[in-house]
Amino acid sequence: MTADKLLGSLTYASDETEFFTPMPAGYVPGRTKYVVVFGTVMSGLGKGIFSSSLAKILQDKGLTVAPIKLEGYLNRDSGTLNPYRHGEVFVLDDGMECDMDLGTYERMLNQDLGRLNFCTSGQIFSSVLEKEREGRYLGRDVQMIPHVTGEVKLRLRELAAAAEADVVFVEIGGTAGDVENAYFIEAVREMSYEEGPGNFCFVALTYIVQPQSLGEQKSKPAQLNLKLLNAAGIHPHIIACRASTPVTKKVREKIALFANVPMERVFSMHDCDSVYVIPEMLRGGGIDAAVIDLLGLADRVDPELEETARAVWNDYIDRVRVAEHAVTIGIIGKYTTVRDSYASIIQAIEHAGASLGARVQLVWVDSSDLLEADIPDRLKHIHGVIVPGGFGFRGVDGKIACIQYVRENRIPYLGICYGMQIAVIEYARNVCGLSYANSTELEPDCPQPVIDILPEQKKIERLGGNMRLGGRDVVLTPGSRISRLFGGADRIRLRFRHRYEVDPQYIPTLTEHGMIFSGKSPDHPIMQVLELPHRQHPFFLATQAHPELTSRPLRPQPMFVGLVAAALEFSGACPNPMAAATARGQNHNQCEARNGDRSTSSALGHTSASA
Ligand code: GLN
Repeated sequence: MTADKLLGSLTYASDETEFFTPMPAGYVPGRTKYVVVFGTVMSGLGKGIFSSSLAKILQDKGLTVAPIKLEGYLNRDSGTLNPYRHGEVFVLDDGMECDMDLGTYERMLNQDLGRLNFCTSGQIFSSVLEKEREGRYLGRDVQMIPHVTGEVKLRLRELAAAAEADVVFVEIGGTAGDVENAYFIEAVREMSYEEGPGNFCFVALTYIVQPQSLGEQKSKPAQLNLKLLNAAGIHPHIIACRASTPVTKKVREKIALFANVPMERVFSMHDCDSVYVIPEMLRGGGIDAAVIDLLGLADRVDPELEETARAVWNDYIDRVRVAEHAVTIGIIGKYTTVRDSYASIIQAIEHAGASLGARVQLVWVDSSDLLEADIPDRLKHIHGVIVPGGFGFRGVDGKIACIQYVRENRIPYLGICYGMQIAVIEYARNVCGLSYANSTELEPDCPQPVIDILPEQKKIERLGGNMRLGGRDVVLTPGSRISRLFGGADRIRLRFRHRYEVDPQYIPTLTEHGMIFSGKSPDHPIMQVLELPHRQHPFFLATQAHPELTSRPLRPQPMFVGLVAAALEFSGACPNPMAAATARGQNHNQCEARNGDRSTSSALGHTSASA
């Protein structure tokens, strides 16, 4: 049965048929191919990194790739998840709060994503239940199959149509055998049948154990877990084996024989020093060629584009590897042991370091138990400081004391969201003489609420219960530090996730005392960027936004570049790092200008102008 016939005749539920396959407008059957990545054995194998690397090497060939992550949990988005348990909440330009893996996709693909790229069970079930109330199931009892699976298939096809994708790249969260994701697996099984042969490529990521006591790789857990996928009706076309060391031929043979997958499609995906080398590793194993072959995509591939994309990417990796200078940045936060909750900041610093030829060492300073007297010692070997985003009062006093120290000792500072609010509190208390200054988040009845929720903005921006979320334009003061960092731009776009902000009634006092608000919302009195004048401090910059979310290997975020450059100067490692990087061929202005280009912020599956 061809896809056409199937989709034409069996689109609706009826008494005569068990099929329920709602089709989005504009869907062209057969045009989009699908790659689905499943996890087996256990989570934490780097499925997101593997999937995004595979998506990247297909994108490098000139294919339009649209990724989607299917999450089993019932939350509608990741906004309510604790970042210290689940990793950071990543925010997309359209305001979707999602899993940190979406950040990996945006960085790898150098592409802005949106809410169609992230789907949870909560979204699927809410939609099904709403449709049930609207009577859209024609009197049928609403069932996991076909209605819930039908909703999943609809989401995948909606993405395919909206992105006009050559390949929709589906990553199923969790592992085979989980209750939560079983219906996602069933949905892609059904859909591969409906779309017909040659349109779906199933990839299983598995894990090869290597117990220390045995000293050799064992494939049995992988074999048994791959059988769980078979039992769900999925016969993988490709198997990627995660392992700490390259997977031996003997183990690959066993996997091939017991999973019915040809040897040449069983790949080793062993540990390596940087996630950014994985695309090249996959290419070296021939996994891209296997996907192109299985999906019949050879005539859509552009080898010239691929060569250029490879060269640009390898250039980035070389920059990371051969860093001329070393510098140390301190991150002051609570629970700094949980690195996943600061994943994008870590990445943004690496991108900035690579663009300046610097290897940046990170030092984590937990502010919860930080005594003022210990600060000089704790910050002794640190050349730049970041106070990242956060919520609640734990560790705030330590952060305020740290900011005072770096301000007075001219240590480069970048404040991110909460880090901007706390910088305002510190300045109000210690420079403007507002000794009771605070945020109403920390002290609801505070007499000098320099950081507050404003009623009129609550109405306009739907603050309060909801946060101000997603990409917003920021108007920059000409000649300011921030404008110079962005190559002289007067308008840029940043991503936000906050509820509180600087209360405009305190702005005259703060500015009279030297604080400069150099980035503002174009429509409302919301202060988005602040800085101190150069004569007062070599680099003191803070933003209400989350600049780490839009930093990419091929487009380092200018505020991070500015911080690392200032830290290099402060450490004495390099007198003029920006000029030195330009001399080596790194064009910062080019990277910066793109950040302000709105056209890069909208497309779902389209490569941004910068790719
Ligand atoms: N808690 C602050 C607010 O809600 C800062 C949020 C953040 O850092 N993301 O505004």
